[in-house]
Parts: sequence; C-alpha cells; structure tokens
Amino acid sequence: MSQHVDVFQMAREQLATAAHYLDLDPGLHKVLASPMRQLVVNFPVVLDSGEVTVFEGYRVQHNSSRGPTKGGIRYHPDVDLQETTALAMWMTWKCAVVNIPYGGAKGSVKVDTKQLSQRELEKLTRRFISDISMVVGERSDIPAPDIGTNPQVMAWIMDTVSMQKGYTVPGCVTGKPIDLGGSQGRVEATGRGVVTAMEEAAKTINMNLNGAKIVVQGFGNVGSVAAWLAEQGGATIVGVSDAVGGIYNPKGLPIDELYHRYSGRDGGIREFKDAEQISNSDLLELDCDVLIPAAIAAQITKDNADKIKAKLVVEGANGPCTPEADQIMHDKGILGVPDILANAGGVVVSYFEWVQDLQNFFWEENEVNNKLIRIMRHAYGSVEAAMKQHKTDMRTAAYIIGVKRVADATIRRGIYP
Ligand code: NAD
Repeated sequence: MSQHVDVFQMAREQLATAAHYLDLDPGLHKVLASPMRQLVVNFPVVLDSGEVTVFEGYRVQHNSSRGPTKGGIRYHPDVDLQETTALAMWMTWKCAVVNIPYGGAKGSVKVDTKQLSQRELEKLTRRFISDISMVVGERSDIPAPDIGTNPQVMAWIMDTVSMQKGYTVPGCVTGKPIDLGGSQGRVEATGRGVVTAMEEAAKTINMNLNGAKIVVQGFGNVGSVAAWLAEQGGATIVGVSDAVGGIYNPKGLPIDELYHRYSGRDGGIREFKDAEQISNSDLLELDCDVLIPAAIAAQITKDNADKIKAKLVVEGANGPCTPEADQIMHDKGILGVPDILANAGGVVVSYFEWVQDLQNFFWEENEVNNKLIRIMRHAYGSVEAAMKQHKTDMRTAAYIIGVKRVADATIRRGIYP
C-alpha cells in the first residue's frame, strides 16, 4: 500500500495542520517544512561472488534547533529520499514531544538484506557509514536501528567511526550491544514505550486491558516486544503478522514461542500452525480492542480506515496511518495514539544510551525502564491535555506540542547570519 502514498507530502500536511493551530509565521513554517540537509550516496560493495554492486543510500537531517540530530538507519528495498525525509521530519517532532535535546534525522539504504551474507552486510554498513561520515558524529548526528538493522549493525557503525577517528567513540551511534556501550533496556525500549502509551490511552477511554484483544502488525523489534509486554500485562494477542503474512487465533497466540521458534524463519510466523492464516490487510480489520501497527508506513488509508474495528490504535510504526485515515477513524470515535508519541520510547532510551556513553557511566535496567516510563507518561499527559484544550485528535495535539517547541527554539536562536 505504501508505494501509492507520498509520505513526505503526508508529513507536510500534518505539519500544516499544526501550523494552522499555532498560527505559525509563514516564514517559520517554510523553515520547518524543509529538511536542513539531504545527502545521497551511491557506493560500491564487492559481493562474496566477486561481483560489484552499487547501492543507493541517504542521510537526511531535518532540523537541529534543539540539539544534534538523531534517527535510525533503515535497510529496505522500497526506501527513497522522500520517505527518508518524512521519517527525519517525524523524528524532529518526536524528540520535541518527549522533550529530549535532539533534532530529527533518518538514514536508509535501498537493499534487500535477505539477499546478502553477513560479510556483505558488514561491508555495506561500513562503506555506507564511511560515505556519510562527513555529516554524522557523536556531537552532530547520531544514528540508531530501524527496519532491517539491529545491534550488530550498530556495532559495525561504531567500529567504523572509531577506526576513522583513531579512538573508540561509543556515543556516535545508539542501539549498540550492551558490552560496547549500549544501554540496558534499549532493545525493548520502543515496545515498552508503545505499551506504556497504550496503558495511558486505555485510561483515557476507560478500557480494561486485562483480557483485551490486541492485534499487532509487524513482528520485529517493536511489534514483538509490544506484543510480549502486552501479553505479560494480561491482554490476549489474537493476531500478529510479519512481511510474509498474518496469523489469527481468537483464543490468543503464544508470543514467546512465536518469537523464539518462528520469527526469522523463511516462512515467518506463518509456520506456526495453531492459527488461521490471514493477509496483512485482513489482519488490520480483525475484531479487536487495540490495533498496534508496528511495521511500515501507510497501512491504514482512506481505503480501509472505515473497516478498522479496534477502539484504540497505537502507532508502533512510523506513519502507518494517512491523514485521510486519521479523519475517518477520528469520526468513528477511534482513539489514535500517534507515532511521534507512541513509539518515542526508542529514541528516549537512545538518548539515555548517548548520555551514558558520553559520561562512561552506566545505569541499571530498572533505572532505565523507570525513567523511560516516567517520560512516556509525562509526554502522554501533556498531549492529552493539549487534545482537550484544542478539541483535536491526538496527532494534532502532539504536533502542536512538538512543532511549538521546535518553532520556539528556532525563534530564540534566530536565523543565521
Ligand atoms: P524490524 O525490522 O525489527 O521489524 C519489522 C517487521 O515488520 C518485521 O516483522 C517485518 O517482517 C515486518 N514487515 C516488513 N514489511 C512488512 C509489510 N509490508 N507488511 C507487514 N509487515 C511487514 O523493524 P522495527 O525496528 O521493529 O521497526 C518497525 C517500525 O517501527 C518501523 O516503522 C520503524 O520505523 C518503527 N520504529 C522503530 C523503532 C526502533 O527502535 N526499532 C523506533 C521507533 C519507530
């Protein structure tokens, strides 16, 4: 579905809605609607076969008014400059909504990692980071994991930057393995933040999550952890999916078993037999209380928004709902917790990781989790208050807070020179 939707246009529309509420100065609106820096690189990698392939990659920095830019690196065959720019812009608002001192960035490489060996993946990563090294760094722009990348990829990034500097630079990337300066709780952070946002939203609409039926699209880092934590909290996960397709069992799915025995297999979680097989689009329309899209952008659009049965949609993914879908779901009385709030847990703990790396002083997992939950609850409370004050949907409320913080920083700093 995502290929039919221009996600950068979508991001600009969302900004325009907030600009209207904030009565934003048109000049300032222009600044915030534009990425401050877009780097496109085409780089060669010698494959195991000896053949040379050229890959296309991007690093986009949207805005650095509030601090160094921060954002994940995505490896996926469908990425492009526009999508990467949208993702960078969303990172700016996300960091501002949870009030951490970062601007937004994003990187991506157009690649199907399933076609590469580990050695090829390592070479691709090291060459990509070398080619964007003039714009990234521990004080300027700090990458992190996203779709198709993981702690091992972050370790190669840290090593590459360190080799070039001549000394170890743990703070140049987050989401690293713990023994290389990673933070306790980072792997689970986005999923934990999603579940914290869901719990707060359940209070807003008086939903009892104990026994609630939950559907999760995407069973990677974000989706699997969110499903597992929600199940631990007493909910029943009735449907999950990955890129291959979905499975459904109204009595509940065993998340731990799915994660440890089925995810990562060629046939994906569909190889689990005690469930009905369904498509990714049917999965979204299942009868459930909470829907957590945690895969890719533009999954809920004007074509399927009126078929969503969940009462609460918590966006684990970035940009899973289009503006038209938002309107349809809002009119139906569905509460949507937007990505820039719901999935901010990842960047919050990335921020903790960076702070720990800069200080060479590491925290215990409980401390990380408690600080994360406190920030998520506080951010949710502010957004909920703005939603009531402005009588809007929750995305607009989150934008009002995020965009205002970035706009205020820009005004206070002034436009150079
Ligand atoms: P991941 O690579 O670990 O997992 C992605 C999952 O989505 C996999 O299960 C994959 O099979 C599935 N998927 C891919 N294409 C699909 C499709 N067309 N339909 C259905 N499922 C599909 O990635 P992740 O880190 O879990 O990221 C998932 C989403 O969460 C992305 O939108 C990402 O930008 C967002 N996000 C991630 C983080 C993070 O810390 N990892 C933080 C904030 C937001």
